[in-house]
Order: sequence, then C-alpha cells, then structure tokens
Amino acid sequence: MNVPEALHAIASTGEGYCWYCDQRLPGAEEAVRDGWDVQRLNSDPALRDSIILVCPTCQREKAELGEEGFLRNLSLRVCNSTC
Ligand SMILES: [Zn+2]
Repeated sequence: MNVPEALHAIASTGEGYCWYCDQRLPGAEEAVRDGWDVQRLNSDPALRDSIILVCPTCQREKAELGEEGFLRNLSLRVCNSTC
C-alpha cells in the first residue's frame, strides 16, 4: 500500500482519525511529514481489509512500550484528554 497516497485520499474526505487515540488527521501534506501511518488490519477476520490510521504519537509509544503497555497507557492518555 502506498501510504502517502492513502493519506491523501483519507485526508480529502476530512474524516480521518487515529485508530487508537482518535487524534484527527491533519492535512495530507502535514500527515505525510509528521509520519502518520496507514495500516491494513488482517489479524482480525471481522475487520478484514479495514484500513486504519495511526498517528505518530501512537506509533512511537507502541514501539517503546510494546502492544500491551501501549494499550494500557493509551486508556489513561485518552481518558485524561477527554474526561
Ligand atoms: Zn494516536
């Protein structure tokens, strides 16, 4: 998958959000520059071929903390910003 191309397509709909933390996708150019990622979910059959966006913050934390730690940390972060 061509990530910059996908980011452009999604940004043009104005409805892109990070799959994990719901951060809004900025404009396409900015998203490409900031390192937003587009991934295809093949692990879960129910979500087969779904495309998700991952913001740079979540990518970094996932790499640093590992999947489990990231998800635990994420619930705290998202809660703090929305509650
Ligand atoms: Zn995120």
